[in-house]
Amino acid sequence: LPLPAPRRIKALAQDVVNKIAAGEIIVAPVHALKELIENAVDAGSTSLEILVKDGGLKLLQITDNGHGIDKEDLPILCERFTTSKLKAFEDLSSIGTYGFRGEALASISHIAHLSVTTRTKESSCAWRAHYADGKLVSQKPGQTAEPKPIAGRPGTQITVEDLFYNVPSRRRAFRSASEEYAKILDLVGRYAVHCSGVSFSCKKYGDAGSGISVPAAGSIVDRIRQVHGSAVASELVNFKVENDRWGINCDAWISNANYSSKRTSLLLFINHRSVESQAIKKSVEQTYSAFLPKGGHPFVYLSLDIEPQRVDVNVHPTKREVHFLNEDEIIDIVCDEIRNSLGRVDTSRSFMTQS
Ligand code: ADP
Ligand code: MG
Repeated sequence: LPLPAPRRIKALAQDVVNKIAAGEIIVAPVHALKELIENAVDAGSTSLEILVKDGGLKLLQITDNGHGIDKEDLPILCERFTTSKLKAFEDLSSIGTYGFRGEALASISHIAHLSVTTRTKESSCAWRAHYADGKLVSQKPGQTAEPKPIAGRPGTQITVEDLFYNVPSRRRAFRSASEEYAKILDLVGRYAVHCSGVSFSCKKYGDAGSGISVPAAGSIVDRIRQVHGSAVASELVNFKVENDRWGINCDAWISNANYSSKRTSLLLFINHRSVESQAIKKSVEQTYSAFLPKGGHPFVYLSLDIEPQRVDVNVHPTKREVHFLNEDEIIDIVCDEIRNSLGRVDTSRSFMTQS
């Protein structure tokens, strides 16, 4: 067979590159929302209100009461790699905040209509700005793209509309809005449990009641009760474990042997970021299998602080899985502690029934 002639190599247009990159970071509405929640928490907010329409595809809006954004920063807010959280590559190893590379808002602005209303406590008014493809744009043709002064409370409101409007293939991939809304509630529920001192509400546009409503005050157990119900909240045990050798500090609320569910609920936070780890999930399930009836699964909330230099934070954002040094040893420590806690509850019970 004759060889085909080589095709010429051409560079993709910049806007195509940006759209592709954005679509890799934001695969579903819940991924955009996670970035927005983390930004709001980073800004020191004690109140987060989330509004969702059509599973987040039509509207995602998050209103916080955090420190706000300086008006002077608005022109570069949605440019790629603009951040207030990282200055040098070395900072990556000691980064304490959620965001670390200034890509989230830029990405969202390439695949949705994004607008921001923000006010710092020094400012006498709020400022509203609209963005497309990383840049300020006017809301209507003929108007200026400059941020406009308006009335508003301190804090920030980010509005994301028509997600994937310019990525028809991605938009078509969504089967149902309620499925996307369920993912959103799951995520908001995780942060609502974890972020003590912060109130959360999440509801569908036009609904009177909240899908999730957690007040700022209230213990972790209260927060778990609000989100997951009293059946699990009344069967929790707490343990804390610290280990200097592996640089970890763990605080956990886990269901005891009286509770069992069809599926494992693992709320895992590593350095205050909601993450997934199949390795941890597998070991936790294995540990519980000795305590629960066949087919029964636990509820486990784990907040794990690991010395930042031991966590690979520079993994690509599409990797929802997290990895850290000495994973096996750390998982063993946590699972030993789960086993101890469950064993302790068992013996205290049998002791009580005997006496
Ligand atoms: P990163 O979080 O990695 O810095 P983002 O694109 O998520 O990147 O945000 C860019 C910058 O915008 C942040 O560094 C922060 O300064 C500012 N910002 C974003 N959201 C908020 C918010 N809700 N309140 C205050 N500042 C915010
Ligand atoms: Mg961010």
